[in-house]
Amino acid sequence: MSRTPVIVGNWKMHNTVGDALQLVRALKVKFLGVSGVEIGVCPTFVLLPAVIDALKESNIGVGGQNMYFENKGAFTGEVSPVQLKDLGCKYVILGHSERRQFFGETDELVSKKAKVAHSHGLIPIVCVGEKLDQRESGLTEEIVGKQVDGSLDGLTKEEMSKTIVAYEPVWAIGTGKVATTEQAQAVHAFIRELLRKKFDAAVAAEVRIQYGGSVKPDNAKGLLSQNDIDGALVGGASLKADDFSAIVKAAI
Ligand code: PEP
Repeated sequence: MSRTPVIVGNWKMHNTVGDALQLVRALKVKFLGVSGVEIGVCPTFVLLPAVIDALKESNIGVGGQNMYFENKGAFTGEVSPVQLKDLGCKYVILGHSERRQFFGETDELVSKKAKVAHSHGLIPIVCVGEKLDQRESGLTEEIVGKQVDGSLDGLTKEEMSKTIVAYEPVWAIGTGKVATTEQAQAVHAFIRELLRKKFDAAVAAEVRIQYGGSVKPDNAKGLLSQNDIDGALVGGASLKADDFSAIVKAAI
C-alpha cells in the first residue's frame, strides 16, 4: 500500500500576521505544481483567517494547533472544532508534547478531541512520544504504546484510517537532537503494529505516521525514506520557507 507522504509545519507561538503572510506567499510559489506530497501549515489561531485566505487555491492545507471538544459555549479561551472548520481548516494537531507538558493534556482528553475532530471533518494529527529519561530507562515502547492506545481510543476504523499519527520523541523537539533513522523507523514500525492489533491490518497499512523532532533539510531524506515514516511534523524549520520547502521536496 502506498501512502502519500504528509509534511506539516507546526508554527507554534510564532509569527505576526505580517510574518505569516510573507512566509505563506513564499511557500505558495515554492510549491506551485508540486505533487505527490500533502503539505500543511498550522499557525496559531489568530493567524488562521489571514493564512487561509492567502493560501486559497493553493496545494497547502491549513490546520489548528489545538481545539476544545465542545462545539460552543462558556469555555473562555478555547477554540471549537466548528470554528476551525468554518474558517476552512483541514487539520488539527492534538496532544502535542507541549500541550501534554505545559497544559496537562491527557490521552483521554486527546482521544475525546480526536473523535470530535472527525465528526467535523477535521483530520487530527495525534502526537505521541517519550521523554529522554523514559528512553534511557528502556520505556519507549511502554510509554508510546500507552499513548497510542489511550489517545486513539474510541475511533472507528474509518476514522483511524484518516487520522495522522505523529511520533515525536520529546527529547528531539526543538533540541537539534534528531532520532537516528533506525530509532525512528523502529518506533514507527512498533506503532503500526499496535494499530494492526487495535484496529486491523488494513487500517494499519493506511495510517500515515509522521516523524517529528528537529527535522531539517539535511536529515529529512534519510528519515522520510524509511518504510514506516510517512511524513514529518516540522517545528523550527517550518518557519523558514527555504528549509520547509527542502523538507517537503525530500518527501517526493
Ligand atoms: C514540533 O514542535 O512538533 C517539532 C517537531 O519541533 P522541531 O521541529 O522544532 O523539533
